[in-house]
Amino acid sequence: MAYRIGIDLGGTKIESAVLDLGNNILFRERIPTQSHLGSNHILNQITNIYKMATESINNEAHSLGVATPGSISKKTQLLRNSNTLCLNNLPLKISIEEKLGKKIAIENDANCFTLAEATLGVGKAYSCVFGVIMGTGCGGGFVFNKKLRTGPQHISGEWGHSTINVYGPDCYCKKKGCIETYISGSGLEKIINSDLKIKISSADFLSKDNFNEQEQLVLNKFYRYFGIALSNIINVIDPDVIIIGGGLSNHDELYSIGKREVYKNIFSNEPSTPIIKNGLGDSAGVIGAAIIGI
Ligand SMILES: [Zn+2]
Repeated sequence: MAYRIGIDLGGTKIESAVLDLGNNILFRERIPTQSHLGSNHILNQITNIYKMATESINNEAHSLGVATPGSISKKTQLLRNSNTLCLNNLPLKISIEEKLGKKIAIENDANCFTLAEATLGVGKAYSCVFGVIMGTGCGGGFVFNKKLRTGPQHISGEWGHSTINVYGPDCYCKKKGCIETYISGSGLEKIINSDLKIKISSADFLSKDNFNEQEQLVLNKFYRYFGIALSNIINVIDPDVIIIGGGLSNHDELYSIGKREVYKNIFSNEPSTPIIKNGLGDSAGVIGAAIIGI
């Protein structure tokens, strides 16, 4: 097939891209998800953007892949763990296939991010790539020799829900002290709110020019947890590279101060794992979706 279409189903926007066999992006469009209008509306939005994509290549033969938060249960075929709550417990893959009249491949968005970065982004030169998303939540993916490793339970890469403090804050996954409750955008925001009594987004807090003494303590704690969280990944699989995506990946100090904290906790006296920022920006998800397409 000469073309590959990807659709990235996000909580606020749905993005589509058309790639040719040389991986050039021929078409790219975004429309709002408008998830408050319900699952039928979201399916209609997917149909709309798919039409735009196919029209851009005059309806020529193509493959199609979809990236989504959460994952499809192999047992029930139902979507679970999506932060677009109205889609949970629906047979999302089947519904999209019926709506579009076409078979699709569907995969977790953090997995699509990692696959895209490992194939076409900053991970190209590495064979074992761990992708880390630090956005509203903490997701991730694991790619070995340019292939996704999703695992029999489809939870490979879900580093965000490893407990780092059994007495820590409640997580929505029903456990306590998950990594996500400390270093995701939403987790850090809660810590800022309770420790500093101020309301500010994590991204805005991290991009401040100056930090007072109390703010510095919160920041130090953030780097410390980042160091513990990523060193745990490295101690288990020792990847060739860790690539960071999501809103908080724009915080430059993650790659200097944060990396030093990671290295302090690695079980090696010669820590060397590159910890780098993504190269494809927020297009990685849709590009990954196009790559997995069938
Ligand atoms: Zn959790």
